[in-house]
Amino acid sequence: MRRRAFHAGARRFAVQCARVRDGDTVSIIPAIAGGAATEAGAGAAAGAGALPTLSNEEIARYSRHLIMPEVGVEGQRRLKAARVLMIGTGGLGAPTGMYLAAAGVGTLGIVDFDVVDASNLQRQIVHGTKDVGRPKIESARDRLNDINPHVKIEAYETRLTSENALELFREYDMVVDGTDNFPTRYLVNDACVLTGKPNVYGSIFRFEGQASVFWARRGACYRCLYPEPPPPGLVPSCAEGGVLGVLPGIIGAIQANEAIKLVLGGGEPLINRLLLFDAWKLRFRELKLRKDPGCPVCGENPTVKGLIDYEEFCGLRPPAETTTVTGGEQMEEISATELKERLDRGDDLQIIDVREPNEYEVARIPGAALIPLAQVTQRVGEIDEGRETVVHCKGGVRSARAIEALKGSGFKGKLVNLKGGITAWSNDVDPSIPKY
Ligand SMILES: [Zn+2]
Repeated sequence: MRRRAFHAGARRFAVQCARVRDGDTVSIIPAIAGGAATEAGAGAAAGAGALPTLSNEEIARYSRHLIMPEVGVEGQRRLKAARVLMIGTGGLGAPTGMYLAAAGVGTLGIVDFDVVDASNLQRQIVHGTKDVGRPKIESARDRLNDINPHVKIEAYETRLTSENALELFREYDMVVDGTDNFPTRYLVNDACVLTGKPNVYGSIFRFEGQASVFWARRGACYRCLYPEPPPPGLVPSCAEGGVLGVLPGIIGAIQANEAIKLVLGGGEPLINRLLLFDAWKLRFRELKLRKDPGCPVCGENPTVKGLIDYEEFCGLRPPAETTTVTGGEQMEEISATELKERLDRGDDLQIIDVREPNEYEVARIPGAALIPLAQVTQRVGEIDEGRETVVHCKGGVRSARAIEALKGSGFKGKLVNLKGGITAWSNDVDPSIPKY
């Protein structure tokens, strides 16, 4: 399955599998020897003299760090001096932010433009039930301030864009990527390469997670691993495919771990290593990464020298086109309220639902017949070409793909896409239909 191959990074790059074999010795006892700051950290603060001091209150708070030689007072002062920018306060950003705040990272930048939704609470533990409807940035700031009032939160209620990313990234020592979509992920990567910042990466889908530290100055970047995004629609989002709530907790905690190590300048960071985690089998694997000399952004002759239009790059917006086009003609759309009016009028319409059976079980539009997207061309015989057909899914994307697939296979009947899918139906026609 191509989707899986993409997710696992098993592509044409020079990646090698490095598993722990039976018989290998694995130690879970931390090394006691060695001091803090064995290599130059990412922190802006240079000598120990320039680092901020710790108050008695802070010394009491961080005592479990201070008694470890790998952190110690100097390491804690490095943490206090550090400036970490987090993109997103969702599934990954929630645990990352909470642990970085608890650890005493002096300045945490948080970027988010979203509002807390009830469906976030299954995994986004920085937000609570009382926060539903609030901007995530406000909810996260309150929670992080409560965890540690010594941390300065710099909140940006905005979407990260090609226009603001470079200016923002320059203000921080490193960026923690908690994004959930390809355009922003490539934007974060390229902006990190262009500003020389480490990109502490994590991604999650269903039961599978990945983590790495992409730092072009010292190794591979995200584009060395994935030079190009997958075709649009090939890799479903968590909203489409689901995600186990605890998974971002595990991957986000790993990102926090790596960010802290980068600040301390010690340990073995996940540079040139891609960590793969399967929560269902409970298995960690690791792939070795190599910097690609031909990488378009961090290679020897880079072709990407500034930030680009990442929506277009990821094929989500065709150049100079804003409407969905199939074979030169525009795709016909209907709103949920129009559909309801037409059904009430008694118009002869058949409704085809192209979601998955488990989604159909959660919520359905009365009278809709279920034919999942993957089966729509094989089961075309079940759709009456003589009747007008309204195709719907959860939000309108899969149904548009179903219409394209049907037209491509020679279906001659009239096909109309339900704009906004069953979510719009629930919002605008029947609020008793649950949203998921
Ligand atoms: Zn690269």
